[in-house]
Amino acid sequence: MLLEKERKAIIRFGQKLVTSNLTTGTGGNLSLANRRKNLVAISPSGIDYFETRPQDVVLTNMDGDIQDGQRKPSSELSFHLELYRARADIQAVVHTHSVYATTIACLRWEIPAVHYLVGFSGNKVPLAPYATFGTQELARNVARAIGPYNAVLLANHGLVTVGPNMAAAFTTAEEIEFVARLYYQSKGIGQPEILPDPEMEIIVEKFKTYGQKMKTGG
Ligand code: 13P
Ligand code: ZN
Repeated sequence: MLLEKERKAIIRFGQKLVTSNLTTGTGGNLSLANRRKNLVAISPSGIDYFETRPQDVVLTNMDGDIQDGQRKPSSELSFHLELYRARADIQAVVHTHSVYATTIACLRWEIPAVHYLVGFSGNKVPLAPYATFGTQELARNVARAIGPYNAVLLANHGLVTVGPNMAAAFTTAEEIEFVARLYYQSKGIGQPEILPDPEMEIIVEKFKTYGQKMKTGG
């Protein structure tokens, strides 16, 4: 089966979207790009993550032409593709409707550096202007707003994260949801202190070698 590994990862992380409370029902979607083969594996539109089989995951080329699969691809295929075009450094895109990030997106606010874990995105999470789901206009807004960040809020809609692989993009979605919750809660009882940009630059640099990652090789 073409891109079997990627298709299985889409299913595994799609199920994790639900079990980690990052989305409900068939909301959200995920994709992985295989740039060497010029293919993108994307979740099918509106199919329960626990009922999705590898053959339901749709393969398209970078222009969105279907290369394999009988299902309709995610309605957000265009913003996934637009992000791969805009960012040569990414191979994975995750879209969620997680509650706290979406709450901030409904206010049409950005998420500032209320906690250092916003560093998974950068010094903030920017906001993409509202456009109807599944439109080319939304795709343009998302690709423009994300800039060099690893996360972007979609006004009145949800959150999109990107990364060099699915595990990274997924972790960013989890951590940004946590930061969005802290922002919501701290705004509820006071005025949170925002970390200054120079401190966030240090954090983002430190993240590059956080955990078991080695500076070189591996
Ligand atoms: P799909 O099921 O078509 O991926 O749509 C879900 C969604 O979140 C649209 O923004
Ligand atoms: Zn959505």
